Amino acid sequence: MEGVQVRIISNEKGKGLFALGSFKEGDTIFEEKPFICCQFSWNAEYGYSACDNCLKPLETAEENVRRLSEKSNIILPYPECCETKSELITECELCGVKYCTHECKIQALQRFHKSLCLHSRSKNHLHPLVQLNDTWKQLHYPPETATVMLLARMVALINQSNDKDNIRSIFSQFCHRTTNETQEIAHNLLGEKFVGQIDILRKTMQSVLNAEFVQDWFTPEGFKSLLALVGTNGQGIGTSAFSRWVKNVTNLELPDDQRMQVDKLIDKIYDDMEEVVGTFLNNEGSGLYTLQSTINHSCLPNAVVEFPYSNSTLVLKAIRDIEPEEEVCIAYLDECLLERSRHSRQKALSSQYLFICQCARCLMQIEDPDVTSEEDDDDDHEDMSD
Ligand SMILES: [Zn+2]
Ligand SMILES: [Zn+2]
Ligand SMILES: [Zn+2]
Repeated sequence: MEGVQVRIISNEKGKGLFALGSFKEGDTIFEEKPFICCQFSWNAEYGYSACDNCLKPLETAEENVRRLSEKSNIILPYPECCETKSELITECELCGVKYCTHECKIQALQRFHKSLCLHSRSKNHLHPLVQLNDTWKQLHYPPETATVMLLARMVALINQSNDKDNIRSIFSQFCHRTTNETQEIAHNLLGEKFVGQIDILRKTMQSVLNAEFVQDWFTPEGFKSLLALVGTNGQGIGTSAFSRWVKNVTNLELPDDQRMQVDKLIDKIYDDMEEVVGTFLNNEGSGLYTLQSTINHSCLPNAVVEFPYSNSTLVLKAIRDIEPEEEVCIAYLDECLLERSRHSRQKALSSQYLFICQCARCLMQIEDPDVTSEEDDDDDHEDMSD
């Protein structure tokens, strides 16, 4: 990748990403497609309709708001601002899983779907893969931060590949943890209540998938380590047909009265949707990105991850000027959490990622008392993956 370089910082800190040249605020540092990604299990179950390969929305913006607001009579003006190309949508002939384009279908089939196809359009709850997904869903309720189906895709990717060693070596480049750390991350991912069931998950997965080429992934330790890999490296992905429409409408040049009208409509639709689905507006999933996963956290980041194409392709953007040789950092915490006290931020980072943040901002606030921010008791900020 031009412009940036992955370097080993130290044994303890591991890798980091460094700028080779300079970047101005707003510059794209790089674009990256996920090595593997998957929609979250409940998100798919609830009818959030996304391409099974790249997570691009499959509904039109109008269909999207009608479903999320449960108002089937909403009409969206400026249909040209909707990016969904319904005529290109296609599906797996055997199981009916949908793709945004023929290219996505072929890519999914070649990489992992051949091994994971249910070979039936009716959902058979006795199918081992469906059982695996159902078991997972009972362990991990929304807000979702991971899915066992991503693990299944990782195994399938290796099984279907002609160059298994290469795929395995790419997976091994993601940040790995010691046994104790792995244990802790897996626990935090599922919550104390469900830890005992990790083994059920492991055995279900083993019975469904050909484990011949990844036997070490299916030992009790190996499986926890796999969960931890996905828990710490997984980047949240969110896509929405309506938010793309809003963005495109916002960029239109409109006379004042029309602008006022459409702004009012947008506010109303967001209110209506919130009443029905709360904050669950997006198609959601997570992915593993080889380059992005090397980027360290800072509470004062100089870059941010965006999904401007409304699919799983991420863009890393500079949010301030970056000098050559400077380390490129993103925030692993969401915006709300990032605003909080040093103590709150560190608590969140150490429970999900098991490190004590020593970024410039944390060091500057080192004298601050160890108090949590007032809002810290809220439970609605548990999702820190995006
Ligand atoms: Zn697609
Ligand atoms: Zn299929
Ligand atoms: Zn920090």
